Amino acid sequence: MAKKTTKKSNETGWDYAPSLESIGHIDLKESYDLFIDGKWVKPSSGKYFETINPANEKVLAKVAHANEEDVDRAVKAARKAYDTVWSKMPASERAKYIFRIARLMQERARELSVIETLDAGKSIRESRDIDVPLACNHFFYYAGWADKLEYAFPNRDFEPLGVAGQIIPWNFPLLMAAWKIAPALAAGNTVVLKPAETTPLTALKLAEIIELSGLPPGVVNIVTGFGDTGAAIVEHPEVNKVAFTGSTAVGKHIQRAVAGTDKKVTLELGGKSSNIIFEDAPIDQAVEGIINGIFFNQGHVCCAGSRLFVQESVAELVVRKLKQRMDSLYVGDPLDKNTDIGAINSKEQLEVINKYIKIGIEEGAEMYQPNCELPDKGYFCRPTLFSNVAQSNVIAQEEIFGPVLTIQTFRTVDEVIQKANNSPYGLAAGVWTDKGSRIFNLTSKLRAGVVWANTYNKFDPASPFGGYKESGFGREGGLHGLRAYVKLK
Ligand code: NAP
Ligand code: MG
Repeated sequence: MAKKTTKKSNETGWDYAPSLESIGHIDLKESYDLFIDGKWVKPSSGKYFETINPANEKVLAKVAHANEEDVDRAVKAARKAYDTVWSKMPASERAKYIFRIARLMQERARELSVIETLDAGKSIRESRDIDVPLACNHFFYYAGWADKLEYAFPNRDFEPLGVAGQIIPWNFPLLMAAWKIAPALAAGNTVVLKPAETTPLTALKLAEIIELSGLPPGVVNIVTGFGDTGAAIVEHPEVNKVAFTGSTAVGKHIQRAVAGTDKKVTLELGGKSSNIIFEDAPIDQAVEGIINGIFFNQGHVCCAGSRLFVQESVAELVVRKLKQRMDSLYVGDPLDKNTDIGAINSKEQLEVINKYIKIGIEEGAEMYQPNCELPDKGYFCRPTLFSNVAQSNVIAQEEIFGPVLTIQTFRTVDEVIQKANNSPYGLAAGVWTDKGSRIFNLTSKLRAGVVWANTYNKFDPASPFGGYKESGFGREGGLHGLRAYVKLK
């Protein structure tokens, strides 16, 4: 009998037979070089690092570590491609390349999903149904804009910025690459992109797709490495624009590094977003929304609804239903289609999450975790709920970036607005209520870049995304996303 990979979450839950996605169709090399000027080149230091599968700690591939010299080569290639080809090409031709990349990604969607799941630990359901389709859709969407920029910026002259240096995190590796590359190309820029060190593989597969698409050499360059590789991109004098998604700490560092230069910068940073449930909300749907808001992608979501605010009169009911639903979540092998919560992205991140769980307990909050079994190997964390939380508690203030939810209650609208806004971050919020007027009232008063009403974590390429306060500035997606890649005259 096949070994069970997902485990029944508790004694009352149903158990499913394992349903593993096959990995036979994927093509992974033992080692990957840097994609510079349309060619695969060895890193000048000769150094490679390993990327592992966080669900079983096995090495997936070796990946080149780009240093300053390699970044310089990539930026020079991007500059040359910008000057000689890309900025001169008719926009309708640029559109065709972007469209072709989208089509090729779509054709290889299954392979991309499986590789994303292996490298990042996220459940196959998510990478297959969310990450990869959305990544393709971003390329399709921006392919459509490339020859219509005059409608995006009516009555304004505009020109591309030049070379865009783009640095992305590990939580949505392919999707973040698409968010960055597609609008940059549509607006006529060339690109040097660095994926995160724990999740470089789908960006490298995207490089293979880009090669296959016939995109002129140097228009997109992919350099893998660590923070030093990212820093070399930020500091390179010929980079005209820095697009960064990642932690607020590194974002602040980047802002200091570009001070005094004329580099344009967009920063998409951390969050501690609130999910607000009023007594007239459809409670069962709201509970699903809470689950989706924080346990989706192991809580590795910048806009995760990690602070739950429930109106006092329904708090008991919501907590009871929430615990029941948490009991039925499957934590386990990310390749299993039954899995709700896959692996934490890295050992380091699991340590961070466990540190916060310990702090929560020490702060006197009450912790609830379903008593599900965890796989013996790999990095896993049970969904965790903290009640009896004070606004000043560390677990209610700092970004945990894991499946950890705090719950607080409120009585009035003004009280919850004040509590929700009491955070250094301002990325997203969710509001659950039957009253349209209340939704409009809150959307205008919550200091968050995105406010979802009666839903959570919904994304669309046409809809801009970005933060307030320490969650960063600049918008990605939609028309706003193009604005970040042109100079308006
Ligand atoms: P991170 O540590 O800031 O890393 C992000 C990227 O920056 C990685 O590619 C990283 O390389 C690189 N990097 C590290 N140090 C650098 C430096 N000094 N200069 C230039 N680049 C540098 O963030 P993370 O831990 O990967 O990602 C989680 C964070 O991203 C969370 O705070 C989350 O909220 C945020 N996030 C925000 C959004 C949004 O849209 N607002 C979306 C997704 C994630 P290495 O991987 O090699 O360290
Ligand atoms: Mg990995």
